[in-house]
Amino acid sequence: LGARLHGALNQLSRASVVDDRVIDALLKELCAALLESDVNVKLVSQLRTKVKAKVKKSLEEAEKAAGREANKKNVVQKAVFDELVALVDPGVEPYKPVKGKTNVLMAVGIQGAGKTTTCTKLAVHYARRGMKTGLVCADTFRAGAFDQLKQNATKAKIPFYGSYTETDPVAIASLGVEKFRKERFDVIIVDTSGRHKQESELFEEMVAISAAVRPDMTIMVLDASIGQAAEAQSRAFKDSADFGAIIVTKLDGHAKGGGAISAVAVTKTPIIFLGTGEHLNDLEKFSPEPFISKLLGMGDMQGLVEHMQDIARSNDPDKQKDLAKKLEQGKFTIRDWKDQLSNIMSMGSLSKIASMIPGMPANMLGGEGGEEEASSKLKRMIYITDAMRQDELDSDGLIFVSFDKAGNPIGLNRRAKRVAKGSGTSVREVEELLAQARMMAGMAKQAGGANGWMSAMQKMQ
Ligand code: GDP
Ligand code: MG
Repeated sequence: LGARLHGALNQLSRASVVDDRVIDALLKELCAALLESDVNVKLVSQLRTKVKAKVKKSLEEAEKAAGREANKKNVVQKAVFDELVALVDPGVEPYKPVKGKTNVLMAVGIQGAGKTTTCTKLAVHYARRGMKTGLVCADTFRAGAFDQLKQNATKAKIPFYGSYTETDPVAIASLGVEKFRKERFDVIIVDTSGRHKQESELFEEMVAISAAVRPDMTIMVLDASIGQAAEAQSRAFKDSADFGAIIVTKLDGHAKGGGAISAVAVTKTPIIFLGTGEHLNDLEKFSPEPFISKLLGMGDMQGLVEHMQDIARSNDPDKQKDLAKKLEQGKFTIRDWKDQLSNIMSMGSLSKIASMIPGMPANMLGGEGGEEEASSKLKRMIYITDAMRQDELDSDGLIFVSFDKAGNPIGLNRRAKRVAKGSGTSVREVEELLAQARMMAGMAKQAGGANGWMSAMQKMQ
């Protein structure tokens, strides 16, 4: 989806005039891309009508306000962006576990959707944020279900509860939740069985467990690779066992993700996380705007910073403090960007992280070969910073820019050419890296201060 949409928007930015024909062509491409990625047909046609209407209205408004020809490209791009965001944003705030009380979460979904894996990932997520977290295995249907959860939990050092002999899932769920509640756990995650399809027995079981443990949030775990079937499946779950949040799994590899969009749209329920791999760390926070921005190849700076903090947190707590401090003070130099790039290189799962950096090629995002391309691209970026002198690294990047007499930037200077040559890259790539560092600095400014999202995030943790 990303590559195709990205291509369509690129075409838009190359067009010399933006007339109805260009807009229609873009819409056609947009719809084709959405259909191809398994978004429900009805939704796509609704979206087309909405974007068209919005473009028309925005153009009229912009012209009225500016009293002249509006910047049509921006208007069209924004309309597409906003409508895509609206698709994955039902406007409902999901439940947020808070420290100091018992928060019970329960996962539902069909067999193989990724419930057990996701429950462990979630447990790790909350435990890292200082919450005492436990896992309860209420799956007595699948042979070996308890062993699987036990293995996952042990690996992740998360306390768990389950039984080899008790066959009533409601009894286990109640006992497990009670035990952890008494021990003053902050977050208790109940994993349930899935069976095969949406069978009535499964729904009855879910309703019974739910009545017994009264979860603060029920999460439907949805496998992205089921494509168009996502719509019917989420509707069936919503009707029988109402849920307040969705986690979409297996968005790594070849899954197209359109099913996720349909699931939100038909159930009006927010996605809270995305599962992007089998590893315990492969869980990404979901928010509509960065998700769409990433999809369109526009990067996801906030996601990137959060990810970098997670890396720093698990590698070296002191470094994490450094980064937080710099962001708070709104300071960010090329050297800081260099450090982050090296951190990223050491992390693995590069294509995923690369998709958060703006200006990275769209074909790198997911799919085969993505990992290698991401790695070689990141390496080139590091070569560029290696070719820089100390004062250049400690700068904000303006040192590489030439200015005219009036003080307007007119391009990169001889230093930039030297760096390109020294690193075996091109001036264009140096420019890209400088732009990225500048965006990071911009994020740092936004992030800093008492009202910045950095401080909001810290308060949350
Ligand atoms: P459950 O039956 O719903 O509990 O599903 P499991 O948690 O047992 O997962 C089924 C399979 O999907 C396992 O092999 C998992 O490793 C795999 N899996 C789960 N989440 C993801 C994901 O986000 N990406 C990938 N690639 N595999 C996943
Ligand atoms: Mg399971």
